[in-house]
Amino acid sequence: MVTFAKQSVRNHIFHEITRSLCPECGQVIDAQVLIRDNSVYLRKHCLEHGWHEALVSSDADWYLNAFKYNKPGAIPHGFATAVEHGCPCDCGLCPEHQQHTCVGVIEITTRCNLVCPTCFADSGAGFDLSLAQVESMLDRLLEMEGHPEVVQISGGEPTVHPQVLDILAAANARGIRCVMLNTNGLRLAQEPDFVRQLAEYRPFIYLQFDGVSAQSHKALRGQDLRAIKRQALDHVAEAGLHAMLVATLVQGVNDSEIGDILRFGLAHPAVLGVTYQPVAYTGRCLNHHDPLHRITVPQVLHALEMQTEGLFRVSDFRPVPCPHPICSACTCAYVDGERVIPIPRLLNVDDYLDFLTNSAGPVISDELGPSLEALWSMAAVAGSDKITDALNCVACGISIPPSSNPELSPEQFFMINTHGFMDEHTFDLKRLMKCCVHELLPDGRAVPFCAYNNLGYREQVKQQQESLND
Ligand code: SF4
Ligand code: SF4
Ligand code: SF4
Repeated sequence: MVTFAKQSVRNHIFHEITRSLCPECGQVIDAQVLIRDNSVYLRKHCLEHGWHEALVSSDADWYLNAFKYNKPGAIPHGFATAVEHGCPCDCGLCPEHQQHTCVGVIEITTRCNLVCPTCFADSGAGFDLSLAQVESMLDRLLEMEGHPEVVQISGGEPTVHPQVLDILAAANARGIRCVMLNTNGLRLAQEPDFVRQLAEYRPFIYLQFDGVSAQSHKALRGQDLRAIKRQALDHVAEAGLHAMLVATLVQGVNDSEIGDILRFGLAHPAVLGVTYQPVAYTGRCLNHHDPLHRITVPQVLHALEMQTEGLFRVSDFRPVPCPHPICSACTCAYVDGERVIPIPRLLNVDDYLDFLTNSAGPVISDELGPSLEALWSMAAVAGSDKITDALNCVACGISIPPSSNPELSPEQFFMINTHGFMDEHTFDLKRLMKCCVHELLPDGRAVPFCAYNNLGYREQVKQQQESLND
């Protein structure tokens, strides 16, 4: 009998195949999704530039479990492009796209009053969109969505646009449920009168806030902005507005401040939540990075658990079901003085949010389902009427607070979200096709945010706009 040497075994589990990008030439190429040492990697081969591998999840259990939370997408009222060259070259939205626009982003200027070493938009100098252009983009959003949930007025730094107040008024006039202003806070800190003017339009402030140490600010923003951020938030609170802190996280720079950022947010009266964004290496970035060692969504959750001594645990979070559930995770908590109680500790949210297990029909049919779906959504903005109503519905369903005090205010809830934007290393077409965060373009297209930043759409708009301004 012939005997064979024992076959050796690969050091990974092959999970699936998808499409990604060559990080050197940007070509769309096949990519294998591999699981090794409880982490998930994308491995891909470019005919010209060889093999590349990148970490996409530091927790394979989280990654695999996330697929249960994938929910069917909604079809927008209209599309802007046809299927012609194939995904991702037909954005969009083209009829093959799997989700409508939960969040529309309008970059009203490419100018900025900072020149951060890290800026996915590579902002600094450039152009402003005209009010007429922004109005036509808002009208287009209405055509596609009917009643849009959320629009983010972004940049560059939107507060340097001379007509930013008119733009907020134009968004309000179109009945968009929640209008957000994405800002570095510089003008909000330096001009309290401007914040008072802003308050007339009730924008929700989405404030860049990368940490509590001078080093983090200097590394990511080129200067210590701690006093500026606090002053901006104080002015926001005085004006009766609300804010979410938005932290860009870079491994070895500010990942040790994840817990401190949360504590700062919980303590400040203007702040209703924190969004953590592991850095995506697009635009202008800190120089060196190793694609095999980078922060991923579950790593943020584990750090949060460790750095807050369990105030928030990984088990308090669920993937957000409207985009691809690998993209983002969130939780909501009830806040009562010093007590902070995440909703999943009070209620089995999986009875409502696990769409795969419950796909044969709703296990439980009551009013909690729609409210939880509204909370675990990219369109969930803390403090908005819709979200406060949903949180009150859930709080009522779980008997919080006592019936003597039936209505809770927005300040009695806190939301935490982590959103892992993609770059050329981590780009995964299956995620892109279900993206629900869309850049609205002056020519009427809506382009998934990670396509906009990685596939040349941003540069296309810049060229079009520059030729218009010539
Ligand atoms: S990402 Fe969506 S809109 Fe863009 S080409 Fe693919 S399916 Fe179409
Ligand atoms: S990251 Fe924001 S604040 Fe910094 S340069 Fe870019 S747009 Fe300006
Ligand atoms: S913006 Fe990128 S990371 Fe976010 S939902 Fe869209 S594809 Fe996913």
